Order: sequence, then structure tokens, then C-alpha cells
Amino acid sequence: MRWKTVLPVLGLLVAVLVSAEPAPDPRLLQAKEFFGTAGNPEGRWTEGETMVPHVAPASHFQATMIYYPGTEELQSDEVRVIFMGSTYYPNESQSGMSIFVELGNGNRFVFDLGIGSLRNYNALSIPFNTINHVFFTHLHMDHMSDLPYFTMFRPIQGGWTPLHIYGPSGSEKQYGIAHMVHHMMKMTAWHQDSFHSWPIGEGYAPVVHEVDFMDAGGVAYEADGVKIIHWPTSHTKDGATSYRLDWNGRSLCYTGDNRPNSLTIEYCKGVDMLISEVQTATVSVSSKALGMPAAMAAYTIDTSHTPAYGLGYICEKAQPRVCVATHYGYDEIFNNEVVAQVRHHYRGAFAFGAPDLVTFNIHGEGKVWWRGAAAADSSQTPRPVFDSPTVTFPAPRHQVYDVINDRVRANEIPPEKWYPEGHKPELVREWPLTEDLEMPNPFAK
Ligand SMILES: [Zn+2]
Ligand SMILES: [Zn+2]
Repeated sequence: MRWKTVLPVLGLLVAVLVSAEPAPDPRLLQAKEFFGTAGNPEGRWTEGETMVPHVAPASHFQATMIYYPGTEELQSDEVRVIFMGSTYYPNESQSGMSIFVELGNGNRFVFDLGIGSLRNYNALSIPFNTINHVFFTHLHMDHMSDLPYFTMFRPIQGGWTPLHIYGPSGSEKQYGIAHMVHHMMKMTAWHQDSFHSWPIGEGYAPVVHEVDFMDAGGVAYEADGVKIIHWPTSHTKDGATSYRLDWNGRSLCYTGDNRPNSLTIEYCKGVDMLISEVQTATVSVSSKALGMPAAMAAYTIDTSHTPAYGLGYICEKAQPRVCVATHYGYDEIFNNEVVAQVRHHYRGAFAFGAPDLVTFNIHGEGKVWWRGAAAADSSQTPRPVFDSPTVTFPAPRHQVYDVINDRVRANEIPPEKWYPEGHKPELVREWPLTEDLEMPNPFAK
């Protein structure tokens, strides 16, 4: 062989020998394996008592332990559930019951609209004109007393299409939701006529969907791949109702207030979230706190409500991905008692749907996660959302001065008397058109 050929071959051999990695250190391999697996159960043991494997945060969360409203885009296959109200006696951190459900397809649903809950919708910048479907479990005021305000002020935030209101019939017509809404609209006659000087459109023409309260499994709503069914439940009087929502393989039940109900077990088997009211049923202690005779507290619970033992029983039978207790005064002294009672029967994932703003996500392969939400100490009315490049303002029914008589107006102090020199603006005393007015979207960001 000639040197000219041998030299490059030798050079290549030396280069390979020099660049070859040393044999891996077995201790390093062991350490890498240790860090890859240690601490993760991976089926080798059961970690904790309630944090079962499907309790997990999603990778797109901005923060795992706190939901910062407005920072997380809902994924197309995800459901977000926010407790805007979580109890029956409102306090500094809790409003009357209201559950806000957002689906990845853009649909939004509200279940119950109890006292004070609208403050939380504002705090989380949920424009009223994006809420078009409200469901009621029953007509106790801790579940519905914000409805008159919502119905009256929704059009002022651009809610110019009819609000759809769903709820049960009663044993007689006068106890059904249609009767209630009909008379709510009569109760608000003065408010409506006064606000009809502004664009309202069909905002004061709610469409009521009254479901037969006895129709077990009846469909209350079906559109866009969303199905909501209902069934009767025993709570103080005929007409109380529970709901189940299904969409895209995700599901949740909200039972409202009731005694533990076999239909809930039947209709909520295997749902992602089973949301129920809960009572500690520690009557002797809690009646003192409430300042009522123990017998009265016992009578209320024993005829009409769900003690935590009962909730544990239902969740053990229905096996939801997470069992959620709400309609609950979130008191530190009773929290452990609730958990202990629930776990007497049920070993799966458990959470409180309280205090207000606790937020649940159903994501991934049916994984669930929950956390508190960071709401600002103060908030402003969110701007309405219109997707279109133009917005058509409906013509008001009348002008303000059509509904104030001249003698009352005569007492108005002329503005010239109280505007300083040079500060009197051009006053807007009339809506400019008697027809609808199409404008470039003034709410666009
Ligand atoms: Zn209630
Ligand atoms: Zn009730």
C-alpha cells in the first residue's frame, strides 16, 4: 500500500479514537433514572387521599394555584366552571348561588343567579351581553334574586337580543318559572319604560323555557352539540330541579338544593363534575351559630337538604371525576367536618365549590383541576362584546322627555346657571333617530 493512501486512513482512525465518548459512568445513569422516576407514583403506589391521577393542571394554565381572569384562553375542548356565588346567606366572600359555565366552543351558560353574584361577573369582566342562557334549579331567592337586575341592565350592556330563561314548572301554574318571569316583567314596568328611552331592542322580551318539573331526563336545551337534561328533586316544594350538561365528551351535574336523590345517581354516573349542595348537619352546633332552635334547623335539613354524609353516598355511587360541595357557608370550623362526613362513603376526588370564584377546568382527557381566582378589589363595567365590524343600535321606544311631564321638567334648573362660563357642553337631550342606527363597532378594542 502506498503512503498516500495509508496516511488519510490512519488520520481518520485517530480522529475517531480521540472523539469517541468515554464509557458512561454507571453512577450517572443511576442518578438520571432516579430523577426521572422518583416521587412519581406511576402506578407503583397511591399518592394522598383525594388527588387521584386525573386531578391535574393543564400545561396552558398561566398559574396552577390561582386563576388570573383574562389571561387564559379556553382551549377548544375545555370546560371552565366558575362559582360566582356559593351560598345562601351572602357574606363578604360569598354571594347567593350562581355557576358560570364556559365551553371551548364559545357557549356560555349560567345556572342560578343568586343574590350578589352579579358583582362577581363584573369583577371577572364578563359582559352581560355575552350571557344569553340562564337556568334555574328552583325559585328560592338565594338562587334567583339577581335575575330582575340582570334582565333590566343586560340591554344597557348591549344585550339587545332576548334573554333565554330556563326553569321548572310547578304543581300549579302560579308556581312555575313562566309565571314568575311574567310577573317579574310586570314588577319592572317602571324600570322598563324609563330605560326604553335608550336602545333596548328585544332585551326586555325574555323567552321562557319552562320544563315539566316531573319529566325525569327531559331535555331542557339542545344546540351546538350541547345537551342539558333535567329531573325532579325533593326540596321544600314541588318544582325543584337538577341539571346535567353534556358537550364534547365533557359533562357536569348541578343538583341545586335537595334531599339525596336516586335520580342524581342515575343521571350523573361518571360525570366529570358532580356539583351538589351540602350541609354539615351538625345541627346542635350550627343552630347556635345561626341563632335558631336546633329543632328548626333539623326540620329544615331533614326535609329539604343534603347532609355531607348523603353527598358522600351519592358520589360513591355515581363516581364523578370530582365531587363538588357548594351552597355552603365556607367556615373553617366546619370544613373538616364536611370532608370527614363525605369520606365516610366516598374515596375519590373532592372539592368545595366555595367560597366565591373557585374555578374548575375540565381539560385534557377528562382531567380536572380547581383553584381560587384573583379578582381585583375594584372593577368596572366590562365593555360589551360584538364580533361584527358594525353595531346596530336599536331605536329607543321614546325620548326621555316623552315620559317626564312639562310641570316636572319646569323645575329643572337651567344648565346655564350651574355650568361655569365656557364649560357648558352641547347638551344631548334627544336620541337622534327614530330608526335603528348602524355604526362602526364603537366597542372594538
Ligand atoms: Zn338554596
Ligand atoms: Zn332552596
